[in-house]
Amino acid sequence: MSAPLPFTPSDHLWFNGRLVPWAQATVHVMTHALHYGSSVFEGIRCYATDGGPVFFRATPHLERLLESARIYRMPVPFGVRELLDACALVVRRNDLADAYLRPLVWRGCGGLGLTALDGPIETMIAGFRQGAPAAGAGGGARDDGIDVGVSSWTRVAPNTLPVMAKAGGNYLSTQLIASEARRHGYHEGIALDTQGYVSEGSGSNIFVVRDGVLLTPPLAAGILPGITRDAVITLARWLGYEVREEWLPRELLYVASEVLLCGTASEIVAVRSVDGMPVANGAPGTVTSAIQRAFRGLFTGDTPDHWGWLERVGAPAVALMS
Ligand code: PMP
Repeated sequence: MSAPLPFTPSDHLWFNGRLVPWAQATVHVMTHALHYGSSVFEGIRCYATDGGPVFFRATPHLERLLESARIYRMPVPFGVRELLDACALVVRRNDLADAYLRPLVWRGCGGLGLTALDGPIETMIAGFRQGAPAAGAGGGARDDGIDVGVSSWTRVAPNTLPVMAKAGGNYLSTQLIASEARRHGYHEGIALDTQGYVSEGSGSNIFVVRDGVLLTPPLAAGILPGITRDAVITLARWLGYEVREEWLPRELLYVASEVLLCGTASEIVAVRSVDGMPVANGAPGTVTSAIQRAFRGLFTGDTPDHWGWLERVGAPAVALMS
């Protein structure tokens, strides 16, 4: 007997161009991605607002999905516009509002060959009511902050796996980082890059505050170019803070006045301790709280969306309504 799902499945998924009932969205055991990790994916948040559900920056997420696929030479038979319509279809058909969407593209069942360049490419989008499966830093947002530990696992080297691609195979590395952290009683693990500088969390980017300035590792530090990271940089500058992308020595984590993690699932989370040492007095700091407030304000209307980040969940094109 299989264990119950740790989340509520939605009624329908979008699978290779049409909506199918959850139970029918299945693949063959010889699926290439199952054997070799050849998939790319995204996580997209949908928020309930007074004006109806909105996606947070769905277009850049879908652009990143197609870039990830391009890096691995996977020809995706859908464009951003079609995928955006498909996301809207999943939200509307399942009557979702506060939701997490998981688009996934993978090499299907086309033989055991490693390259499988002419095998099928499959695409699906699943939707979940928020609060359900989204793990993120510390298993969802915690207002009192989270405890993190520096991982004994190094982030993948730039000349091994391309980290700009959000590829399934990369997440073997982050599974090790996250599960080691949990074993040690931390909510999240922080990986260093191959040079020993701070890279990122298992599913989140990191910022520290030092002398009132926000510092975050550059793209070359083996990080995923996070869309929330970009939003934090933009919101922080809008609030008047200086933000710099810099190589961060590990010990900066022990002497920073604030540390925060950010990602689609976890949003913006204060770190209250690193390797068992409290960050400042262990309470979320003023910079983190100000950015958190500005971020959440986007969905209540308290923060004006100067950047066009909120994308209304529109009516999907007729062609997709199957
Ligand atoms: N790094 C990794 C390894 C991640 O999996 C994620 C989550 N997608 C992030 C950073 C944060 O990226 P984003 O803000 O685009 O969700």
